[in-house]
Amino acid sequence: MKTSRRGFMGAAAIAATAAGTGLRAQPKESGRVDGPFVLTTWDFGPGANETAWPVLAGGGSALDAVEHSINHVELLPDEYWVGYGGVPNEVGETTLDATILWGPTHDWGGVGCLKRVKRAISVARKVMEETQHTLIVGDDATRFAVRMGFEETSLTNLRSQAAWEKWAAKGVKTDAFDPEPMDADRLAGHDTVGSIAVDAHGNLCVGCSTNGREFKIPGRVGDSPVPGAGAYGDQFVGGAVATGNGDVMMRFLPTYHTVELMRQGMPPQLAAEAALKRITDRGYKFSGGIAAIGIDGRYGGAQVGWDDGGFSFSVRNREGNRRVWVSPEPVSQPG
Ligand code: ASP
Repeated sequence: MKTSRRGFMGAAAIAATAAGTGLRAQPKESGRVDGPFVLTTWDFGPGANETAWPVLAGGGSALDAVEHSINHVELLPDEYWVGYGGVPNEVGETTLDATILWGPTHDWGGVGCLKRVKRAISVARKVMEETQHTLIVGDDATRFAVRMGFEETSLTNLRSQAAWEKWAAKGVKTDAFDPEPMDADRLAGHDTVGSIAVDAHGNLCVGCSTNGREFKIPGRVGDSPVPGAGAYGDQFVGGAVATGNGDVMMRFLPTYHTVELMRQGMPPQLAAEAALKRITDRGYKFSGGIAAIGIDGRYGGAQVGWDDGGFSFSVRNREGNRRVWVSPEPVSQPG
């Protein structure tokens, strides 16, 4: 690991900070890439990065790169967790949450519980670029999207319809009524695409998009469109994106926490671990992951609850597209 970042603390100082947050005192190595670069979560990360990369390689903006990356996943016909044809709510409707940050101005746009419009991240970008608002939700977000020229169309396909019918036939209530803390294994499925890019001009963009939780209560908005919860960034520090049980994670603003620790000089992996540990220390059992990358290209991640080691993110720069598997070991679950 290179330690050339300005303000980077020495190992002793990191150990002291780690001790103060209850972390393991031993800092771990994280990777580092030269810019421009793009990082994207999960198994759709490599494909999303490849879609974004020509924008960055051609000198384009991180904003366009993140929009390309996330649109790629939102429009994948077989992707169940993000975009149309995926994760229906309790009454069988698919609704979308998304947010985007443009680093140079720290301007944000987001949509929550967006209905009947496919490219949620692009609608979020319109909120950012065309309005003074930060978050627009529900049917009004749909009306806003249509006003901005987006097509209104069904987000249901055969797969999401079949998934909902199978679940509805069981006659059970959504797990969102179950008592907390919840066992990570029992929570219905969920995933988020989160992308962070820095372009050749050194400008940062962070975004994410999701359908949220399977069979959620209608109207539910998760962590993804909330700044500091599902995603956060700071032009002078870097960005972080979250995935997992957003209903728990958004109570702790874990991506804001991660970026603020990185601002103090903590490597991304340790910062992400500390942000998740803040949640597990309060007794929550959940599945959650954070991927983070500094404006200097140092990256790392942490996860809890996916004991099969299932959380990954990918980082693309001039040298290639590297997939990073995040070990579940660093942050232990209580109990
Ligand atoms: N965080 C998302 C939500 O709760 C789902 C996920 O990323 O797994 O809406």
